[in-house]
Amino acid sequence: MLKVEGASAGYGRMTVLRDIDLEIPAGSITLVLGPNGAGKTTLLRMLSRMIRLQSGSLTLDGASLATISTEDASRKGIRHVLEGHRVFPGLTVEDNIRLGQIGLPRPRRLSTDEVCDRAYQVFPILGDKRRDMARSLSGGQQQMLALAQAWSSQPRFLLCDEPSLGVAQSLVPDILEFLKGRAGEGMGVILVEQLIDQPLAVADSLVVIKQGRIVAQGSREVMPHRDELVEMMLG
Ligand code: ATP
Repeated sequence: MLKVEGASAGYGRMTVLRDIDLEIPAGSITLVLGPNGAGKTTLLRMLSRMIRLQSGSLTLDGASLATISTEDASRKGIRHVLEGHRVFPGLTVEDNIRLGQIGLPRPRRLSTDEVCDRAYQVFPILGDKRRDMARSLSGGQQQMLALAQAWSSQPRFLLCDEPSLGVAQSLVPDILEFLKGRAGEGMGVILVEQLIDQPLAVADSLVVIKQGRIVAQGSREVMPHRDELVEMMLG
């Protein structure tokens, strides 16, 4: 369980997020929605320790993460997939996937065949292009690669910043299915999105952020209706 209590965070002296209380369980998808500039990316940066907490607490299974580095957070299994399908363009698909294991303690590493084969099973197109440079892939394929790379580190929590951005509409379901599959295996997924309908269909719980504050949250059973959500985000 990743838990945030009474947290605020921002940039320098500027506070963006205020009074954030959030529990992110393993084995589920928590969808984070909100208008532009609401603080969604900032929330992910706070969770992955890219920015410091200005107040409040952040714990993983009860142990504080408040002062650890991004690298240590990654080692503890909190993996941030940044917005904009960041991959290493001059490396092959296969090398990109393998690189995800860097920094993992040796006993936790899988063989290259293992990490790559399971990635190719869920994203067959990556298998077809395993020897191609990442730069030659489409936006959606690069997003798949970024996710496969993160998955190769066997994270406990995967923080995904707008994975549908710049991705052909036809590939969005594959990406959401991938996340659903990982949650089914026990991973905690935090999914920041601009799209509403497709991510809502796979989400187990929802958080709505506006002007740096959580204005609604709840499990699937108590999620606001879609129209209410749109109103909440626009109004
Ligand atoms: P979007 O949907 O447009 O990506 P968001 O909800 O992810 O928006 P954030 O990117 O978290 O919002 O931005 C929240 C606020 O923090 C905005 O006012 C933004 O200008 C500010 N901000 C974001 N990144 C930085 C930064 N590196 N330095 C200073 N301010 C920043």
